Amino acid sequence: MPTFVRTDKCDGCKGQDKTACMYICPHDLMRLDKDGSETGHAMKAYNQEPEQCWECYSCVKICPQQAIECRHYADVVPLGASVQPLRGSESIMWTIKFRNGNVKRFKFPIRTTAEGSVEPYGNKPDANLDELTDHSNLFTKGTHSCDMSQFSAN
Ligand code: SF4
Ligand code: SF4
Repeated sequence: MPTFVRTDKCDGCKGQDKTACMYICPHDLMRLDKDGSETGHAMKAYNQEPEQCWECYSCVKICPQQAIECRHYADVVPLGASVQPLRGSESIMWTIKFRNGNVKRFKFPIRTTAEGSVEPYGNKPDANLDELTDHSNLFTKGTHSCDMSQFSAN
C-alpha cells in the first residue's frame, strides 16, 4: 500500500528547495505543496501518484518528522496497527504497534560504512552525462558479451 503524509507532523522540511522525501524517492513521487493549491495544505508534502508507489519505505525512513506512514497489507499489518521507523545516523528504531495496543520497539544498526564515505563509482570511471543521449554508450556496455548468432534461425 502507498505512503501518505501526515499534515499534522510534516513541516515541509522547513521550506528547503528539495525536501528529504523528494530527494530520496526513487520514483520521484513526493512533492511539496508550497502554496496549498494542490492539496489545500500549504508547505506540506504529498505523494502525487500513490498507485505508482513502490512501498520501498525510503521516504518513511528519511522523514525527520516521522510524518510519512505506509499503509500495509492487511495480512502483515492489519487496520489499526502500524510499523514506523525513526532513523538516526547509526541506527534505526522500529516502533511496532499492535491492534490490541501493545507496542514493541527494535533498534538496529543501519550501515556498515561511515555515512558519506560510499564511492558511487567505485573503480569505474565517472559517468559522462553527454553520452547518455547515445544509447550505444551505456555505463555497462562492454561488460557483457553475447554471441548473437545463437539467436538466428537455422
Ligand atoms: S521529509 Fe517529512 S517533513 Fe520533510 S517534507 Fe517530506 S513529509 Fe514533510
Ligand atoms: S515508499 Fe518509496 S516509492 Fe513510495 S513514495 Fe516513498 S520513497 Fe517513493
